[in-house]
Amino acid sequence: MKYIGAHVSASGGVELAPVHANEIGANAFALFTKNQRQWVSKPLPAESIKRFKENCEKYELLPQYILPHDSYLINLGHPEAEGLAKSRLAFLDEMQRCEQLGLKLLNFHPGSHLNKIPLEICLERIAESINMVLQRTSGVTAVIENTAGQGSNVGNEFWHLKYIIDHVNDKSRVGVCLDTCHTYTAGYDLVNNYDKVLEEFGASVGFGYLRAIHLNDSKKALATRVDRHDSIGKGLIDLSFFQRFMKDERFNDMPIILETPDETLWAEEIKLLRSFE
Ligand SMILES: [Zn+2]
Ligand SMILES: [Zn+2]
Repeated sequence: MKYIGAHVSASGGVELAPVHANEIGANAFALFTKNQRQWVSKPLPAESIKRFKENCEKYELLPQYILPHDSYLINLGHPEAEGLAKSRLAFLDEMQRCEQLGLKLLNFHPGSHLNKIPLEICLERIAESINMVLQRTSGVTAVIENTAGQGSNVGNEFWHLKYIIDHVNDKSRVGVCLDTCHTYTAGYDLVNNYDKVLEEFGASVGFGYLRAIHLNDSKKALATRVDRHDSIGKGLIDLSFFQRFMKDERFNDMPIILETPDETLWAEEIKLLRSFE
């Protein structure tokens, strides 16, 4: 079974996110549990936590299909001590918010070397950050998202993800989220080489670590390393990809999240995807 939703708004309180997910006919969703552009946010009010759980139950949205996304400011591979410490603290706070909400996954972008440290050192640093945070929390899996490789962002090649995982101590609480737009613009041709790309992912990372999908079309061409999402069927990733994806059982039983730019289309996009099953 496929669990599909979108990254819905939590403005006005996290408890509203499941309401928005229900409105678009979703059985999965993503959210920010704090303002994604600020370092520090107020703790989640007990009342919000309670109502979040109630609403998830009411709309039959299960924790394993809810994929919170961390703040864009966090860089777990930061080359400098101050930026690294700040990022680790903020990531710990994000993990603790997930624990409070009873959630199981936390999706994050691995980080950037900012052209100041070698790639491998950056990847090891990210793994060390994950280790530190996993040690201080329980029940939440750190889900590394692959990137388009824009700027000095790491995580655009499958082996980067595996390299990080290899350096994480608790393998049971680390996983991967594949973003289809990022995969495509990073240079993996999901349209013309569907089988080959996924075979490569399986051999390099392994489907056992695949915990979530960001299902996005792309405004930018293959291998441009630019991250610009588009609505399903409106970008450069041919609909034939989404048709194959929806029939592919390797993507069952995990959150599949639209991060497409026009939220007024989300309900239709979900319907379209369901028609491909
Ligand atoms: Zn994404
Ligand atoms: Zn993106």
